[in-house]
Amino acid sequence: VPPSLAVLGGGQLGRMLGLAAIPLGIEVRFLDPKPDACAGAVGPLVVGALDDPAAIDEVAAGAAAVTYEWEGVDAGAARHAARHAPVRPGARALEVAQDRVTEKETFRALGIPTARFRPVDDGAGAEAAADALGVPMVLKTRRGGYDGKGQTVVHDAAASADAFYALGGVPCIAEALVPFDRELSVIAVRGLDGETRVWPLSENAHEGGILRRSVAPAPGLGPGLQARAAGLATALLDGLDYAGVVAIELFDVGGELLANEMAPRVHNSGHWTIEGAATSQFENHVRAVCGLPLGETATTGNAVMVNCLGAVAEPATVLSVPGAHLHVYGKAPAPRRKVGHVTVVADDAATAAARASEVERAVRAAESAAFPAG
Ligand code: AMP
Repeated sequence: VPPSLAVLGGGQLGRMLGLAAIPLGIEVRFLDPKPDACAGAVGPLVVGALDDPAAIDEVAAGAAAVTYEWEGVDAGAARHAARHAPVRPGARALEVAQDRVTEKETFRALGIPTARFRPVDDGAGAEAAADALGVPMVLKTRRGGYDGKGQTVVHDAAASADAFYALGGVPCIAEALVPFDRELSVIAVRGLDGETRVWPLSENAHEGGILRRSVAPAPGLGPGLQARAAGLATALLDGLDYAGVVAIELFDVGGELLANEMAPRVHNSGHWTIEGAATSQFENHVRAVCGLPLGETATTGNAVMVNCLGAVAEPATVLSVPGAHLHVYGKAPAPRRKVGHVTVVADDAATAAARASEVERAVRAAESAAFPAG
């Protein structure tokens, strides 16, 4: 019987994990509430809620390991799955990633710099935070926010309590607004033996809170910046006794790196590694959680990844660009939904950028044709 890996979640990240596992002889099966989950194209799909014990039993029984492609997986569900096989990364990584206060406290405890922050539990707490941090400050719900949802920038200290209640009056974190130069991310992987490997940082551009483009290696990335990011990632992975891939989103402030958040899984800003690195984040995640040796993370060239948001670009147009690789996720189109991506790899950064601009024109044309309102 070939070894099998159970994945909680069956979206595009699961699908790309499956595509990386197949050549390794590892069978991947998925749990997802949607019967048409796109990972179902690459492995058996159990349809059920991610926190349904019976569904977890079905997907995890007999697996060599259990992993997940969504950080919202309930830590209790992860512990239930652990009755069948080790869950990697562990439940602790989920708990840290799911609560923005715990996350930033964990970063700080491990020596990883962050923006100044305060937990906020009521209107008075929001005002106290504005006093302590100054304005502008960012108010975010502690749990459940993604793609820029569940957060707001407070410009006027007198309006901080109102901002807290406008977010639903739920537990929040207040953060000093960081005057960053750019947003970077570091993708790293740690094996069962504790070995850690780090890919070159990418520079990420967002639109409406959603990733549009990643450039890797990040422009102007010197050995100092890369070494600092690798140090932060290694501290986090060792601190959590982690197995698998992690992504850490960073603010670059004049060469100083502040950690904003972690994703305990493969990440959109690491999709470029499929063609742009010796080993992709997906393959190394599978290797790590299955206890196999890790692969090299060196680049194969300069990569730019462009997301297809809402609609997939015309394949014939994209594929006419030298060095362009198209990834269609097989999801139903919907406004701003991540339905595919294109990675361009070239020998030099200027060529990669020029070709990516060409790709981006095709991507945007398809998006505005599908959803003219944008
Ligand atoms: P997040 O949900 O924490 O990833 O935040 C979404 C986006 O909001 C980030 O990618 C940043 O562009 C911006 N942002 C979040 N926190 C801060 C902060 N403390 N200072 C400045 N910008 C922030």
